[in-house]
Amino acid sequence: EQMVQLTDVRKEYGEEVALDGVTLGIATGEAVAVMGPSGSGKSTLLNMIAGLDRPTSGEIVIHGENIGALSETALAKYRRRRIGMVFQFFNLLDDLPVLENVTLTAELIGTPRKEARKRALELLDELGVADRRGAYPVTLSGGERQRVGVARALMNRPALLLADEPTGALDSRSGEQVMDLLLDLNQIGQTLLIVTHDERLATRVADRIVHFADGDVAPEPVR
Ligand code: ADP
Ligand code: ADP
Repeated sequence: EQMVQLTDVRKEYGEEVALDGVTLGIATGEAVAVMGPSGSGKSTLLNMIAGLDRPTSGEIVIHGENIGALSETALAKYRRRRIGMVFQFFNLLDDLPVLENVTLTAELIGTPRKEARKRALELLDELGVADRRGAYPVTLSGGERQRVGVARALMNRPALLLADEPTGALDSRSGEQVMDLLLDLNQIGQTLLIVTHDERLATRVADRIVHFADGDVAPEPVR
């Protein structure tokens, strides 16, 4: 069963061709790492799958749903319910304590506050940062912030977890912890798509590495 199927996906920004007819499938439960030089189209790929932007042409089917056919409202709903995103620089809201950063995503889809708090606390506990629930993000270490970022991403039980350089801003020890976390998640069935320059992350966590070059999948690694 496929979680993701892109067929001949093209994305142009004016004259610039960011994706040049990408055909790529990801099976349910698979962990895929996308690697490739800067400018090869990795972020664009992630943005298309996340429903943050639409392709110029081609088809994107996620979890059986053709997301190109969705209205803006339905696409926003798809993004919140089906996709979890983890970012290089965490993207936490500095004005909110850790717990509220995590519950907000669930409250946005209508989860009752009490239920959202319960799930958030369970996740923070599993990720080893429950003791930081009342702290503000700026007071946390990078590794702690990323664990909060992962908790937030998992809050709505996404079918697909997308990570953009999740270890890129971490020291090696925190990076390893985040790798272990992603590996554990995949072992309990979470489908993962990780864009990274980190060879260790790719080889340790991914079932498969997809190399990108000039807006398309490349047969060999390109530097
Ligand atoms: P990364 O460091 O992940 O490769 P980039 O620095 O290439 O990311 O891009 C960061 C963001 O800026 C992306 O969301 C991308 O869509 C956007 N972006 C990249 N290149 C351009 C550009 N030439 N003009 C406008 N936006 C761009
Ligand atoms: P990567 O993530 O591999 O660095 P990107 O997907 O960010 O690559 O970019 C692929 C190509 O598309 C680059 O040439 C980039 O400049 C261009 N690009 C990406 N986003 C935009 C944008 N919003 N506007 C214009 N050009 C863009």
